Order: sequence, then structure tokens, then C-alpha cells
Amino acid sequence: MVLCVPVIVQVKRSYMFSKLFPMEIAESAYDIDYEALYKDGYRGIIYDIDNTLVPDNAPADAKSCRLVGSLKDMGYKCLVLSNNDLDRVKTFADKVGAGYIYKAAKPSVKGYREAMDKMGTDVNNTLFLGDQLFTDIWGANRAGIRNILVKPIDKRERMHILFKRVLEKVIMVFYRRSVKYKAATEDSR
Ligand SMILES: [Mg+2]
Repeated sequence: MVLCVPVIVQVKRSYMFSKLFPMEIAESAYDIDYEALYKDGYRGIIYDIDNTLVPDNAPADAKSCRLVGSLKDMGYKCLVLSNNDLDRVKTFADKVGAGYIYKAAKPSVKGYREAMDKMGTDVNNTLFLGDQLFTDIWGANRAGIRNILVKPIDKRERMHILFKRVLEKVIMVFYRRSVKYKAATEDSR
């Protein structure tokens, strides 16, 4: 009985945090097999901007423009969903050639749903990529969209984001434990 308590606490904690767990993790938004995903039926991609496609507050660069251009050539619709203001988001989106939603208030699901409406896609054929658990991933999970957590491009971040990164590390400990737990229970079947 006593031995059961830590297991129950562990499972409860994992459940509590599960909406913050990414569905997948990748090194970078530039390191994804988008062609394979297209073959799997995905048609719309929603991106966070800062530290996902470019460093925090950096302008659109050749790499981000090339990525969106090649995705559109493949047949994808692309949209950037950001909590940043109109000027930042529109300037970036216009340069890369993507749709945009600004001041999205992620993790609110409203922006994610609006993004799918704009792209003409739904939860079954839309992907989301972002670098933060408490805004990007939480919102995508709440909206029911397949999501990929990417590593932040720039490690030098502002103070309030650095604080969130510490909390993210704690959540990721529970995430890794839940992945191990799932793998162990699947192996034992
Ligand atoms: Mg970001």
C-alpha cells in the first residue's frame, strides 16, 4: 500500500501536466520531414515566430522565407500565430508569405481555431510548431492540434521567458517520466 502512493502521485502529476506535454520534439522547425507529413495528409502548418522560425524579435531571414516558400510549393497553407503585436507579426508574415494572427493570447484556443479557418484546414490535417510549453504547446493541445516542440533558436532570452524556461524544465521531467512509463507498460503487454 505504502509503495503504491509514489506511483499514484506520479501518475496524478503526469495527468495534471499532460496538456503541457508536446506530442513530438524536434531540434528545429527546419529539421522536419514536411514531405512525409504532406503524404500523411497534412495540409496546414501553424508556426510560432520568435525563437521558432527566427531568434526573438529578429526579422524574417532568407532561411524562413525559403522554408515557407518550399512548403507552399508542396501544397501547404502556412500561417504564423503569435502573441506579439500587429507590426511585428504582419511585417514577418508578409516577408515570408504566410498568413498571420497577432496578439493571439496563446494558450487561448481562439487563435488556433481562427488559423485553421483561415487556412481551410481542421484538427486532422493541421500541424503546429512552437518553442514554448506554456503558450504554444498548451494551446495546441487544448485545440486538439498535432504539435511539435522545437528547441529555441536563441538561448539568450528575456527575464520573464527565462523564468518560464525553468518551469518548463520541471514539466519536461514529468514528460520524460510519462514517456518511459508508457514505453514500459507497452513493453509489458
Ligand atoms: Mg516563441
